[in-house]
Amino acid sequence: MSKKYNGSCHCGAIQFSYEGEEITSGLRCNCSICARKGAMMSPEAIPVDALKIKANGEDLGLYQFDSRVAKHYFCRRCGIYTHNEMARKPGHCRVNLGCIEGLDTSNFEVKVFDGKNLL
Ligand SMILES: [Zn+2]
Repeated sequence: MSKKYNGSCHCGAIQFSYEGEEITSGLRCNCSICARKGAMMSPEAIPVDALKIKANGEDLGLYQFDSRVAKHYFCRRCGIYTHNEMARKPGHCRVNLGCIEGLDTSNFEVKVFDGKNLL
């Protein structure tokens, strides 16, 4: 059963929503950027078309490095990382579970993706 989720950065300048699999667990990655961010991500890879972003172009920051395939998005006002477009699955995103409205991740089982060696 799919579920509708709404999320935002801390200051609210960036809002997103999507409909997808119910979120019952989290994903962490140990690559150089994810290790620094420490965010718990959605296990589901969400098609870019399914993720609706509402933000002023100015506020939505984009960070890329190395191959510049993955796109790491964040809020330029409050600095919160909201979502990224995946290197391994172009055209798909993972969202920061901490940004999702009403979602309590404290008891979530967390899988670790070995991005350090696989990306
Ligand atoms: Zn913000």
